[in-house]
Amino acid sequence: MSDCLFCEIVAHRVPASFVTEEEHAVAIRDINPQAPTHVLVMPREHITSADALTPEHDELWAALLRLVQRIARDEDIAGRGYRVVANVGSMGGQTVDHLHLHVLGGRQMTWPPG
Ligand code: AMP
Ligand code: ZN
Repeated sequence: MSDCLFCEIVAHRVPASFVTEEEHAVAIRDINPQAPTHVLVMPREHITSADALTPEHDELWAALLRLVQRIARDEDIAGRGYRVVANVGSMGGQTVDHLHLHVLGGRQMTWPPG
């Protein structure tokens, strides 16, 4: 989708700080980090949100979680703990309608989230 910011980033038409690129997923640093580590993991394919996932996406979803784990280890936040967030829709706080997982770590997280 050409009007989707993250599709543009995945295609390298909009610059971003890439952490890693895989066949079906990429990870970038959030432009407005909310923690010392704040990485966004997203599929290359345009999927609107986690709510749009179907059983056909099961393998992709698993690959996204594997990538989250790898990033947590590489960023050295896995041992102390970290947070994985998928905002869904406007009431969920989603502002970019291309599925992405926030990987947040490096500080103590609080609950409930805002
Ligand atoms: P969400 O609100 O869950 O949809 O998350 C969207 C995230 O994308 C926010 O945390 C933004 O800071 C981040 N963001 C927006 N534009 C960019 C960009 N050009 N590069 C990296 N991150 C971005
Ligand atoms: Zn997209």
